[in-house]
Amino acid sequence: MTTSRWAVLLCKFKGDDSEPLPRARYEELFTGPGLGRWNMPDFFCAVSHGQLELAMDVHGWMELAQKQSEYVGSGANPQGRLDLITWAREAAAGAGIDLSPYANLVVVTNAPSDLFGGGSGVVCYDDGRNLAMSGLAPGLLGQEIGHGFGLAHSRLDGTTDDYTDPFDVMSTARARMADNPFWTTRTVRGDAVYPIGPGLNAGNMTIAGWVDQSRVRRITSGHAVDTVVELRPLHRHDLPGFLMIDYRGLLVEFRHNSDWDAGIGAPAVLVHRIEDGITYLVKDQNGQTAGVPGSTWGPQISSITVESIDAANLSARVRLKSINFVPDIPEFEPSLADLMEQQPHEISVAAALARVGEELRFSSPTELGM
Ligand SMILES: [Zn+2]
Repeated sequence: MTTSRWAVLLCKFKGDDSEPLPRARYEELFTGPGLGRWNMPDFFCAVSHGQLELAMDVHGWMELAQKQSEYVGSGANPQGRLDLITWAREAAAGAGIDLSPYANLVVVTNAPSDLFGGGSGVVCYDDGRNLAMSGLAPGLLGQEIGHGFGLAHSRLDGTTDDYTDPFDVMSTARARMADNPFWTTRTVRGDAVYPIGPGLNAGNMTIAGWVDQSRVRRITSGHAVDTVVELRPLHRHDLPGFLMIDYRGLLVEFRHNSDWDAGIGAPAVLVHRIEDGITYLVKDQNGQTAGVPGSTWGPQISSITVESIDAANLSARVRLKSINFVPDIPEFEPSLADLMEQQPHEISVAAALARVGEELRFSSPTELGM
């Protein structure tokens, strides 16, 4: 297990002494007292197969030297965004808080500021007025903290538009979030203020290095195959069995409409591919993304088919089939995970991803006439 230590800085703008939520709420969202209550360490434990411990410490409140009106950051003004993180760092230093032990930080402001995340930090706010979805919604924070771990927005295959994978937290602007079982506040219009999920897709888990490789059914050779794999829900590391299939670079996962994925509507088998560090949700032969029994990806020569889904028993059966269409391929073709696992110091992530790209091109449905 890897531990990533993050600081949470509760910051008041100069001249605004309001504390929108009781301090216990912030502790619950980011630290031990909230474990088991859909908090952020819970989320990252689930989407990392238990391999990432997100250890967060809440500091503050502390007062920024700047007023809210001085904040000018936005997507179009990234420097303004970085300035706010700098202001928070300065306030922390002034309060005697040593930020050197932390890998990254979350700045929570007491009045409207912004919502973004990256390697320099995450910024969010909740003014306690409950007029719209809060920046403290675990669904939104899952994405912003995900950016802090280097993840990009996810996409639907065939488009370069971000936020187009409804089954991935890195698309939460348009993803299927669920009501929060503990933070049940609603806006006057009835919308959830603190929705959760969905989880991370198999592609982003792979990019982050959070997939338990011992639970992956991997087929990378070009030899003939006809096998049925039983999959468990992607994030249910507690259940025995396979959690993901890597079929020549196409990542197959089963998602169940419960827990972080309670908002996805119905159980579904999904297929993703990775290109240049971005995940793409692949449509089946009928143009659908949520695989149900009978759904097939790829032509007959090499295909993925959902045979059955047993929602009650949390499993799905997926058939992988191909004829021996690549006679001269070596017996063992390393996958991205193999490359990263076996030669961590010799092969960069970029090189590994490029390698997977080659595999995808090699067996891409387009080349096979799909
Ligand atoms: Zn984002």
